[in-house]
Amino acid sequence: MDDCVFCKIIKKEIPAEILQETEDFVIFKDIKPSAPVHYLAVLKKHIPSIKEIEHEDEALIGHLIHEAKSAAEKLGLSGYKLVFNVGRDGGQIIDHIHLHILGGWN
Ligand code: 5GP
Ligand code: ZN
Repeated sequence: MDDCVFCKIIKKEIPAEILQETEDFVIFKDIKPSAPVHYLAVLKKHIPSIKEIEHEDEALIGHLIHEAKSAAEKLGLSGYKLVFNVGRDGGQIIDHIHLHILGGWN
């Protein structure tokens, strides 16, 4: 956890372009965008990946999706993709749950 990049962004130890923040989540711009608009919705709780979520985390994951929806509205996206990469073979590089918000093609 100490060397987790997203925990460092959450603790403001490294900078990020934050769009919105609540008690449980932070949403910031991806440093290397894969779409014209690319943000990451990040849980403040350090859970490495979807593989590690427990029953007690279900509501939190639901809220994360809702938070991503509200960010997409704020960004004026008419349509978008929400993506969880899960595990190395699923393309996950940062081991801290995050939901990619991708859009802006139109
Ligand atoms: P993953 O492949 O783990 O699902 O996605 C990690 C994402 O985090 C990548 O799209 C990558 O560009 C982004 N990323 C990695 N390091 C940083 C960083 O220090 N700051 C920001 N804003 N994004 C990062
Ligand atoms: Zn972390």
